[in-house]
Amino acid sequence: SGVKENDAGYAFFNKVMENKLQREDLIEKEIRAAITENDTSKIYLEYQPQVDLKSNKITGFEALARMRTKKLGFVSPMEFIDVAEKKQLIVPLGNFILTQASEFIRDLTDKGFKDIKVAVNVSGIQLLRYDFTDTIMKIISDTGIEPSSLELEITESVLLGNYNMINEKLKNLRNHQIEIALDDFGTGYSSFARLIELNIDTLKIDRYFINNISIKDSGDIITGDIISMAHKLGLKVVAEGVEVPEQKNYLMGHHCDRMQGYLFSKPLSKEKALKMLFNQNK
Ligand code: C2E
Ligand code: MG
Ligand code: MG
Ligand code: MG
Repeated sequence: SGVKENDAGYAFFNKVMENKLQREDLIEKEIRAAITENDTSKIYLEYQPQVDLKSNKITGFEALARMRTKKLGFVSPMEFIDVAEKKQLIVPLGNFILTQASEFIRDLTDKGFKDIKVAVNVSGIQLLRYDFTDTIMKIISDTGIEPSSLELEITESVLLGNYNMINEKLKNLRNHQIEIALDDFGTGYSSFARLIELNIDTLKIDRYFINNISIKDSGDIITGDIISMAHKLGLKVVAEGVEVPEQKNYLMGHHCDRMQGYLFSKPLSKEKALKMLFNQNK
């Protein structure tokens, strides 16, 4: 009977794998369709405000990719970005996303919001491409935006094994006035020693540390230390995933520059993001 159980387990495992692969193929098809048909109803961006902690005003947004199709419903970015990376679609998808973000910036500028920055997440595979900087500069000039209104968010994992090459690229991007933020800081492999020479402008403290504020003593201690160390290195600091007033108060007390999180706003459609800017400037 042991054999039978194993057979059943194996068959079940196969079925799960089959479903997973079928779903990946479907997601792949939908990504391809969205890109080739330039269909921003299938893949589009939402914009989550980043707020200056001193003035309580929106200084920028993080663009977050969304996917929704008739066949699949809503697919999380974790899932479809992962599929795009696997199926070698992340470069065209990344360009589609960067173009949409740049068009949003164009829109903001046209409506008089000139100092607002929009941050776009880029995958390591995009950054590793030899022509990444050229591609970005082309999108910037095609949409007619200021490079300084674009910020790129990279994660620490991309630095693994490619540190010198990536750091050179970041330097080059910054020479073009594009700002760089290190996303999810504290969860990966970077040390403060590494940060000293890394060509970035901003550190985004991972939600994990923000979550622990006023829950665990260690959360309080570490988060404050990250902020002051980052400032000593000349970096700006953004706190991710701020959900409750206690966290905001703590961050203000520790001179964090900006916050992002549900406490202020969830990610918004571009129409709602614009409306929020208009309301704050009334
Ligand atoms: P991330 O770049 O760290 O983005 C922050 C995530 O935290 C977003 O999840 C956002 O919706 C969520 N978030 C914001 N505020 C709060 C809060 O107060 N509480 C909680 N619990 N969550 C909050 P989302 O949109 O599901 O994105 C997940 C991840 O997918 C992103 O993490 C990023 O790594 C990736 N991603 C999203 N869009 C893109 C993209 O265009 N390109 C690439 N390469 N990756 C993307
Ligand atoms: Mg991000
Ligand atoms: Mg993050
Ligand atoms: Mg993340």
